[in-house]
Amino acid sequence: MNEKNRLTAAVVPCSAQPLLFDETLCAGCNRCVEVCQVDIMIPNPEKGRPPVVLYPGECYYCGSCVMECPVDRALRLQHPLMNRAKFVPARG
Ligand code: SF4
Ligand code: SF4
Repeated sequence: MNEKNRLTAAVVPCSAQPLLFDETLCAGCNRCVEVCQVDIMIPNPEKGRPPVVLYPGECYYCGSCVMECPVDRALRLQHPLMNRAKFVPARG
């Protein structure tokens, strides 16, 4: 390929880490990549390894990727801390 026409991509830094892959279980089938409607990840250039999450901040935690994954526990969602907290009324 002509160097001038080569496309590159880099992970966009973000404090959120929405997807947790278990590298020992993930088969690198990329079904999660295909089902994501906001395309936050791309297939890993290394065959058989978990996808690369390029845009972690764009995930809206729909869970489709986890449901589509054929390997139990290979992929889990990690919700932002604010969404995991439970707020209760203060008692006077
Ligand atoms: S939870 Fe939804 S938006 Fe987030 S990576 Fe999975 S499919 Fe994409
Ligand atoms: S669908 Fe599951 S096994 Fe396939 S690449 Fe994604 S996390 Fe890995």
